[in-house]
This record gives sequence, C-alpha cells and structure tokens, in this order.
Amino acid sequence: MKRLLNFIDGQFRPPAPGRYLPNVEPATGRVMAEIPESGPEDVDAAVAAASRAFEAWRKTPAEERSRLLLRVAELIEANFEDLARLESEDSGKPVALARRMDVPRAILNFRFFATAILHAETSAHMTDDRALNYTLRQPLGVAGLISPWNLPLYLLTWKIAPAIAAGNTCVAKPSELTPMTADRLAALIGEAGIPPGVVNVVHGPGASAGRALTSHPKVPLISFTGGTKTGADVMTHAGPLFKKVSLELGGKNPNLVFADADLEQAVATSIQSSFSNQGEICLCGSRLFVEKPIYDEFLDRFLAATRKLRIGDPLEPATEVGALVSDAHRNKVEGYVALAREEGGRILTGGKRPADLPERVRGGYFLEPTVVAGLDCSRRVMQEEIFGPVVTVTPFASPEEAIALANGTRYGLSASVWTRDLQKAHRVAAALESGTVWVNTWLLRDLRVPFGGMKESGVGREGGFESLAFFTEAKNVCVKL
Ligand code: NAD
Repeated sequence: MKRLLNFIDGQFRPPAPGRYLPNVEPATGRVMAEIPESGPEDVDAAVAAASRAFEAWRKTPAEERSRLLLRVAELIEANFEDLARLESEDSGKPVALARRMDVPRAILNFRFFATAILHAETSAHMTDDRALNYTLRQPLGVAGLISPWNLPLYLLTWKIAPAIAAGNTCVAKPSELTPMTADRLAALIGEAGIPPGVVNVVHGPGASAGRALTSHPKVPLISFTGGTKTGADVMTHAGPLFKKVSLELGGKNPNLVFADADLEQAVATSIQSSFSNQGEICLCGSRLFVEKPIYDEFLDRFLAATRKLRIGDPLEPATEVGALVSDAHRNKVEGYVALAREEGGRILTGGKRPADLPERVRGGYFLEPTVVAGLDCSRRVMQEEIFGPVVTVTPFASPEEAIALANGTRYGLSASVWTRDLQKAHRVAAALESGTVWVNTWLLRDLRVPFGGMKESGVGREGGFESLAFFTEAKNVCVKL
C-alpha cells in the first residue's frame, strides 16, 4: 500500500512522530494509502526550510519565477489523467468532474499567476510639489496554506500559485481526507525545478499539523479555506500573533428563480448548482427559492431531472453523482435529512442510500440527491451548512420577500438569480448579502474577479490582484522633493 511522506526542503520525509493515518477511498470504503500524522515538529522543520529558501526566492526575478510556475502547469497537464483519477479515487467525486473542473483549474491557477506577475503595476501619489509617494509590494515570508477536501488540487493550487508567484515561500497543509493529489503535486513541483524549501507539504490532522501552522510565530500569513467553525479556531490562534489572515468559509447559498426566468436553463443549471460534486462545493446553491406562479412547474421539472441523475462508481465516465467524502460526513448529511423530517419538511425525492450500486462500490458512502420542501426558513436545515446532496425548495411572492429569505442566514458566500428582467437582476444583485452573485448562470469563474464571502462565509478576498495584494505587504515610500 502506498505510504505518503511529507515534502520538506525538496525531499520526501517521514513524519517525526513516525505515525500514519489510513486514507480511505470513499467510493469503496477501502484504505487506499497511509498518510503522515504530522505534528508541530514536522511543521517546524517545514517552516525552517521555507524560511531558509525565502531570501533567494524573493530575489529571483519575476520572469524566472514565472517560467518555473509555467513549468509546473505543463507538468500538471502532462499528468492530467493520473491526477483526475487520483482526485476521483481520493474524494469520491466523478472522474468526469475532475477532468472537467479540478485538473484544468489547477493548470489555470499556475498559468494565471505566473503571467499575472509579469503585468503587475504599482501606484504613485504626488503630494503637490512637495513629495513623491510610491508603493512597494513585497512578499512577507513563509505563507501557511490550509485547504479542505472538496476541491483538493483546485484549492491548494489556488493558494500555492499566488503565494510563490508573489515571492513568498510556503508550507501547505492539505486536508487529511484527500492528500493524494497534493503528494503528486509536490513531486511535480520538485521536477519543475522550483528550488527546495519554496513549497513544502505537511500532511496530517487539522488539530495537530493545521494548528501548529496557524500558531507558528514564523508564519506571518495564513490562507485558510474550510468550515466556519474551523475558521474561528484559525483566527483564535493567528490573531494574537497579528498574522495576515484570509478565510474562505462555509455557505448556505440561495438560488432565486423568478417567474420570468428561462425555465429550461434555470432547471438545468439548478441541478448542477444543487448536486455537483455531491453538493460538496462551497458555492452550491442549497436553498432554492422559486416565485409562486412557476413554483409547481419548476418543481416538477426539477424533481424529474434530479431523479435522472446517474449515481454510481465515480471512476465510470458517465457517473454524475459520486460518493460523499467519508462515512462520518454521510452520517452528518443523513442526520440533516432526518432533522428535515422532524422539523416538518417533506422529502420529495432521495434521502436514502442508493440500491443496486455496482459491485466495486457497494461499500461506498453514497446518498441519493435529495429535495426537501415545506420547511420554515428559520429551521436548522435551512440555516446550517449541510454540504451534501440536499437542497430545500421554498416558494416566494415578491422580490422583496426573495431578498429577505436569501439574506436570512449568517452566511454570505454566493447567490444565483434567474430572471430575464435586467433591472430586477441588478437591483436584487445589489441587495443580496453575498460575495458573489451570478445572474442566469452558476460557477462561471473569471480568475481576475474578487472572490470571498460576507458575514460568516469569510474574511478578505482572493482572486486576481486581490490574491497578489494578500500575499504581499504594501509599503509606502515617501520621498521629499
Ligand atoms: P475543515 O474546516 O474541517 O478543514 C479544512 C482544513 O483545515 C483541513 O485541512 C483541516 O485539516 C484543517 N483544520 C482543521 N482543524 C484545524 C485547526 N484547528 N487549525 C488549523 N487547521 C485545521 O473543512 P472541510 O470539512 O475540510 O471542508 C468543508 C468546508 O470548507 C465547508 O464548510 C465548505 O463550505 C468550506 N469551503 C469553503 C470554500 C470557500 O471558498 N469559501 C471553498 C471550499 C470549501
């Protein structure tokens, strides 16, 4: 069985405590690898290596850093199929999705930031004829990068690429549930010729390896993507050390369908936004609100399309819904289905473990795509992030009511609005408490735009120059004239 090691100072090394954790393939329930159960000693070694590498890396010309990052992108591309398969096996997601989304995006993340640094500008401010101010943007040092299990390679590269493009070195801590593509990426980063110590990968649980990073005095910035509760713990440890922190957290995203929407498009895309990656995307629309005149027709079509989704072995190219990431996570999601019933909701479809799965995946953590109606919006199922293939549907009577319902949670990550009325679209978009609003689409991502959450969905923005701003310190130089 494959045993993963940490990647420190350009070498694969066993964890200091010598302990390993099983890594399970969610579609089968079988152990597919062992990963280091790293602790503070490993994080210390990685931070020391990253600190040593920093002085030379920050002085490496942008053109050279760019060339090396582009080389990583090429190597990811050359290993496309292997990475897609590994991501699917490790997380339970359909391999078709990994091919369509995860791996292409990892390539793009490196290309995007490799070229962005060749076009970076800075600002100057003239103080009348008395002084010239200009802004220097300088890397900070060792960046701590912590990522979740739902989009493992996609989100890890979304952090590593801008961090090192900007001249920082880094210690990355991928999710202990999905370490496989991070391990492969570490090897490709070495092969690309990125100098030892610039990128280090430490595997292990959040409570030991993750917290050792957030509370490490020599790590001045933390980019974290994960759950809101964990985000609070990151803040608790990083706060007293005055680290720069970016938090991309959970969501309970509304999807508003107005009566004048293109119904066919709205249904087709709402199926994607509800159930892609088994609903395990922070941007999934888990609360569907439909204007009353079309509620019945929308629901009929939506339920019919939900029942047609192909659930099965993630490695089969035709599979549309794979396995949830772990047994514990499926239990949590099933707990919410039971709670929906207790709270007075009706399960219109799904809610069960699928029967008739292919032999290979009978022991996997599957759950049918589930639609719940009839819940009051104050109920826990409508308020808490479920992060699974469960969507609620609720009718609304007016734009004002739709906005109030959409904004009625502590989250504010993303929202979708379906209407053909341009003015209504702009008005509703402006009123939604949400970091991203999609109009007549979902998950259309331009890497230049600011990305992040309002309220308990996060702090700070990433994307384009926002990422480069986060991974640099702005310094004002004031020259008297
Ligand atoms: P999680 O918070 O459990 O774990 C995320 C990462 O943090 C993992 O690497 C984990 O090991 C680590 N971690 C856990 N405890 C830690 C601690 N005390 N200190 C430091 N690190 C710690 O989240 P998850 O279950 O892996 O991912 C699902 C969550 O991520 C969902 O809430 C989802 O909405 C969110 N998410 C948000 C975005 C976004 O862009 N806003 C994107 C993807 C996922």
